[in-house]
Amino acid sequence: MLINQSATTNTSFDVIVIGVGSMGSSTCYFLAQRGYKVLGIEQFDIPHDQGSHAGQTRIIRKAYFEHPDYVPLLHRAYENWKSLEKETGEQVYYQTGLAYFGQPDNEMLSGVKRSAALYDIPLDTFDTSFAKERFPPFKIPGNFETLFEPEAGFVTPEKAVKLFAEQAIRNGAEIHTKEKVLEWRKEGDGIIITTDKNIYHSKKLIIAAGAWSGKLIPSIAEKIKVTKQYVAWIKPKKWDDFTLNNFPCWLLADDEQPGCYYGFPILPATMVDGPVGLKLAHHYPGIESDPDNVNRQTGTEELEDLMYVLNKYLPGAFESVIASKTCLYSNTLDENFIIDKLPGFEDHVTVACGFSGHGFKFASVIGEILADLATEGSTKQSIDFLNATRFA
Ligand SMILES: Cc1cc2nc3c(=O)[nH]c(=O)nc-3n(C[C@H](O)[C@H](O)[C@H](O)COP(=O)(O)OP(=O)(O)OC[C@H]3O[C@@H](n4cnc5c(N)ncnc54)[C@H](O)[C@@H]3O)c2cc1C
Repeated sequence: MLINQSATTNTSFDVIVIGVGSMGSSTCYFLAQRGYKVLGIEQFDIPHDQGSHAGQTRIIRKAYFEHPDYVPLLHRAYENWKSLEKETGEQVYYQTGLAYFGQPDNEMLSGVKRSAALYDIPLDTFDTSFAKERFPPFKIPGNFETLFEPEAGFVTPEKAVKLFAEQAIRNGAEIHTKEKVLEWRKEGDGIIITTDKNIYHSKKLIIAAGAWSGKLIPSIAEKIKVTKQYVAWIKPKKWDDFTLNNFPCWLLADDEQPGCYYGFPILPATMVDGPVGLKLAHHYPGIESDPDNVNRQTGTEELEDLMYVLNKYLPGAFESVIASKTCLYSNTLDENFIIDKLPGFEDHVTVACGFSGHGFKFASVIGEILADLATEGSTKQSIDFLNATRFA
């Protein structure tokens, strides 16, 4: 299905969603499924590679080290990914398992163990010699602990965004591409939305504008730092050791570098658009950028950073770089999301932003939550810890 319905005679809607990316596409899907008259407005194509959802794969996991309160949301996210697959007959979730490497008391490893224990999430623990046997390409230091979450894996962002948007249209949503929202304002008991093509009226507005959120909501701009992130696909010397079904997703906390490094198995060319290779990246905020003016040239520093982790933990694997890509993070001060009714506009506007480089796995539940908040005023999911007023 071609997602391009820009010609419209309708200008009045129950709910308008700004941004049909990761969270907005899922939101349009849930609203349309519930019978609301919904318009999703996207400034680029669906999907596209200018925001936060490009690059073929996103890790999904339940033993959440960032905060245990995310775990119930993840249970629902897994269910909703499965429902999308069932409804469309397309696969978006791949269960590869996920290996965590790091010192036992590291923030990531201890957080994984805490969430797994609290919520009874299956988690295998390996001593170093067994871990070396189980994950032969990795050189694991003797002081590291290795954990393995069998139900973790990856989801496919571009495909999922497209499926959600297509299903939304099938259920009656209008979705406009290549249309940019310039401003919105409250008027009477509704919201007026002005784009570069039209003016619309909506009873409710949902802003899911990713890296552009601060441009549409000035009060949130200073709470979100947009950074550009480097991702590379490399050609390994022994290709077969790293292919899907032979190699898991992985997350590694190094002793010297902040954040964590992560990677995926090599996917077959039939499964992906774009580069085929061993994908890896550093999860840590990169250089601050204006989303409308990103220098997408990648420097040698970023590649050197990935060479550091390859040389240290996957020695001898690297042969050459196949491709690299720049993608955007929207980081909040505490790296937790913002999902709330917009302060000052509680009755009319809902916002979801600041996904801080770890939001995609939740897209399938966040759309449902945003639809709840906009149409019912509340949600049964526990999201108090993601409120928009916590930085005031
Ligand atoms: C390199 C990288 C790796 C990542 N890895 C993981 C991972 O392994 N696991 C994980 O769970 N998450 C991961 N993430 C994070 C995840 O991808 C993001 O949290 C998620 O995509 C954010 O979704 P979003 O809807 O906020 O942004 P987007 O998907 O970018 O959607 C926002 C949309 O709003 C549109 N928009 C903005 N302003 C306007 C306007 N004025 N008018 C019309 N449209 C507008 C944009 O064009 C865009 O399409 C990663 C992110 C990056 C960059």
